[in-house]
Amino acid sequence: MIDFNIPPYVGTELDYVRQAVEGNRKICGDGPFSAKCHEWIEGRFNATKALLTTSGTAALEIAAILCDLKPGDEVILPSFTFSSTATAFQMMGAELVFVDVRPDTMNIDERKVEAAITEKTRVIVPVHYAGVACEMDALMQLADCYGLLVVEDAAQAVMSTYKGRALGTIGTFGCYSFHETKNYSMGEGGAILVNDPSYCDRAEIIREKGTNRQRFFRGQIDKYTWVDRGGSYLQSDMNAAYLWAQLEKADEINQDRLATWDFYNESLEPLCEAGRIELPFIPEGCKHNAHMFYIKVADLEERGALISHLKERGVMAVFHYIPLHSSPAGEAFGRFNGRDEFTTVESDRLVRLPLYYGMSDEDRCTVVEAILSFFE
Ligand SMILES: *Cc1c(COP(=O)(O)O)cnc(C)c1O
Repeated sequence: MIDFNIPPYVGTELDYVRQAVEGNRKICGDGPFSAKCHEWIEGRFNATKALLTTSGTAALEIAAILCDLKPGDEVILPSFTFSSTATAFQMMGAELVFVDVRPDTMNIDERKVEAAITEKTRVIVPVHYAGVACEMDALMQLADCYGLLVVEDAAQAVMSTYKGRALGTIGTFGCYSFHETKNYSMGEGGAILVNDPSYCDRAEIIREKGTNRQRFFRGQIDKYTWVDRGGSYLQSDMNAAYLWAQLEKADEINQDRLATWDFYNESLEPLCEAGRIELPFIPEGCKHNAHMFYIKVADLEERGALISHLKERGVMAVFHYIPLHSSPAGEAFGRFNGRDEFTTVESDRLVRLPLYYGMSDEDRCTVVEAILSFFE
């Protein structure tokens, strides 16, 4: 059986976890391993401030709190995304305004965003689907023009770039996930990138139960107290130790995933040329991180048949995202702006192939052969 996903594991994780427990004797948040991860993310991605969180969802929640939303404020996001992109803002009482995706990247269609902006719009949330960048120049220009904040859901996009800039560092805030299904993992975890320095202090406070404890630790105040909204969003240093092992090998993991991605892309090119499937599109100026490899087939029916065919041959392929606007909560908390030209029809056609760090040649050949045999 070829699994759809196997969590990344490089081999040094447990040594570092042991060091956190027995050596550092520091297992709560913001210990030495968290500091290493923060410094690595900030250095590698040229980010102003990175803070580990308990999940990508938690990072989005901190960003939503930082946006200071009031009930009735509107947030623009794609409908083709994971529920967390929506829940973080819905929790703040925001009205969700879904915008159609581009069929080529499955990212929010930047040309359809302006029509969704109203007096009440406060935030745009681009989701970099499959680690491929949204058209950030166009979105940032709209945000500038209308005075909006931008929260990048870069959960899938760690190590991806747009015109040379790391995804997650372009908007007001960026949110990473280190869930076990993502490229780099600590089981459950994430990070928020605060790109506008004026929000740094407040981000620390919100992350630490609404207290100014960080300023106290730095000796800037002589006692700490409750000063703002907040939650318990610090990640344990044991998890940070686990992640650190993988960040040290970030390039190796990235190259390995890209090799599998390129193999799929080349091997399936003839099917694409024959008009049987569509392959992912990477726009000019975007470097992706091989978070995901998907193909598009004719329709829902063919997708079901393909997934069954692959399963019979021991290959686990999956699809995802019932578009949020047609989910029960999406119907209650949001509306789709304009026409759903691509979101539903394109999501119905999408199939994700197995892709994980360390996938063997043999396994990726099996996947390709199983797909080719379906279309014969
Ligand atoms: C994984 C993911 C999240 C949530 O991350 P968690 O770490 O699982 O909370 C949010 N948005 C997108 C697009 C994701 O893929």
